[in-house]
Order: sequence, then structure tokens, then C-alpha cells
Amino acid sequence: SALESPGSHLTVYEPRLLLRARERLWLDHHLRRALDLHQLELHYQPKVALAGEVATSVEALLRWRHPKRGLIRPDLFIARAEKNGQIVAMGRWVIVNAAAQAAQWLAQGLRVRIAINISARQLSDPELPRWLAECQRIAHGLLDVELTESCVIEDEGRAEGFMQECRLLGCQVFLDDFGTGFSSLAQLARLPLDSIKLDRSFINTGGERGQALIRSLVTAARELQLKVIAEGVETEVQARWLLEMKVDEAQGWLYAPALPAPEYQAWLAAHNAKKD
Ligand code: C2E
Ligand code: MG
Ligand code: MG
Ligand code: MG
Repeated sequence: SALESPGSHLTVYEPRLLLRARERLWLDHHLRRALDLHQLELHYQPKVALAGEVATSVEALLRWRHPKRGLIRPDLFIARAEKNGQIVAMGRWVIVNAAAQAAQWLAQGLRVRIAINISARQLSDPELPRWLAECQRIAHGLLDVELTESCVIEDEGRAEGFMQECRLLGCQVFLDDFGTGFSSLAQLARLPLDSIKLDRSFINTGGERGQALIRSLVTAARELQLKVIAEGVETEVQARWLLEMKVDEAQGWLYAPALPAPEYQAWLAAHNAKKD
């Protein structure tokens, strides 16, 4: 195709730049069709209470199954979809499909809260609150919402307004990737939040300083009556010291990666059987 064979006028660029430009073109072109061609999937990663290891809920994570490229993770396309605006349509697809999954699980007797990720660009979609309200109805109130710290920093007023609306719809509100931006504790106190999710980079750092930092964040969160969730937990050692520090819940490969719905159900059954 035209995208695969760049015209000679492009050869004046550095090869690396050219590659990046071609990658952007490829993404713009193929992302637009991904929805119509049913190439998007949601996978579900469990959140586990550190005390007692009870599986509490899941996070929905978007995957793009491309016929030639295989399974593409969101780090490779979400940023581009935000830039070209396609995130709005994709985000709506995520919300309605997560809602349908919650309803389907409920019909099977499984009550699973599902948290969806919402990025900054989606907040400028005027239809988003109405869409979420409709999907929350389909999901019997089981949808929650994760907003990143950078989303709040970009436009605090808008993020706060959206959080209020989520609360009214019965969504719990999580502050995602906490600690990577520069939101202050004063800002945290103002926002209508239920939980903060400590960014993976803190958990991996470990060491005295990492632990001291987490300890102070947990103390602050307690004062503000916020639940604390650690993301990216990969080892028993990490889980043990997070529990000692009174972190409430954890998420990570130690428990399970993001899984397709049937595999999540199998994981949950095995996990519950192991605990009995
Ligand atoms: P996030 O919301 O902070 O999600 C956590 C990421 O860490 C996920 O990457 C997850 O697969 C990965 N992860 C989980 N446990 C571990 C672990 O133990 N170790 C390591 N190294 N990684 C772990 P993923 O699925 O590639 O998603 C990346 C980001 O893309 C997400 O970060 C989220 O910001 C965004 N994203 C994913 N799905 C959606 C979506 O439906 N809509 C929007 N707007 N953004 C999404
Ligand atoms: Mg998230
Ligand atoms: Mg996160
Ligand atoms: Mg993260």
C-alpha cells in the first residue's frame, strides 16, 4: 500500500524520524478501522485485597488484535488515538462493552465491579456523561472509573466536575498513576475521590526511600479517607511490605495479568478454591 512504500520525497528525513512518521500514518489509518472491523477487545485484571487476598473487582484494559501485528497493547496506540481524536469513539466502545460484560457476569451470578480508564481527551466529549449514565444502567451500577493524575493536572476543574458526575452515577472514582504527576495533597483533598492507585514505578523502586515515600502517601490517604491500591505488584516480597504499610489492595502479575473474560472467570474460580 501507499503507507508501506514511502515516496522518494520522504527520504530526506532521518531514518528514525521517517519510521516514526510512517508509524503515525499506519496508526491513524488502521486505528480508524479497528472499531468497525471488531479488532478491539477488553481484558480484565483483578484487584486483590492484600489482607486475605480476596479478589475484589477488576480493571478493564483495552487490547487491539490486529490480523498481521497480533495483540497490540494500549501503550502503543492510546497516545496516538488521543492525538487524532479516535479515543472518543474507542472510549465509548470500552464503556458499553465493559457494561455488557458486567451485566453478563451478573446474569451468571457473579457480581464484579469493573473499572474503566478514561483519558484527558475523552473529558472533552460532551456526550460522555450521558453515555456513562446509560452504560451504568446497563451494568446495574457496577462500573467504576479511573482517571490519571495527569488528567487532573491538565484541567482540574473539568476533571473535578466529571468526578462529581461519576459519583452521582454510583461509580467509584480512582486516581490512576498517582505519584507520577505533581498534584499536591491540597489538590487531593479537594477532589471527590474514593481511592488512589500508587504508580507501578514506586512499587518497583523498593528500597528505604521508596518505602518511606509509600508510607507517607498511605498516611496522607488515610487522613483523607481514601483507599490505597498498589499497581504493578510482581513479587511476594512486595505484597508483604505493602500489607505491612497498610495498603488496601494490589494489582499485578503476582496475581494475574489482564485476561480475556472467560480466562478471568477461570482464574477467579481457581483463586477462590485455593483460599477455601
Ligand atoms: P494503567 O491504567 O495504569 O494500567 C496498568 C498497566 O500496567 C496495564 O498496562 C497493565 O497491563 C500493566 N500491568 C499490570 N500489572 C503489571 C505488573 O505486575 N507489572 C507490569 N510491568 N505491568 C503491569 P496496559 O494494559 O498496557 O495499559 C497501559 C495504559 O493504557 C493503562 O495504564 C491506561 O492508562 C491505558 N489504557 C488501557 N486501557 C484503556 C482504555 O480502555 N481507555 C483509555 N483511555 N486508556 C486505557
Ligand atoms: Mg488504570
Ligand atoms: Mg495505573
Ligand atoms: Mg500506570
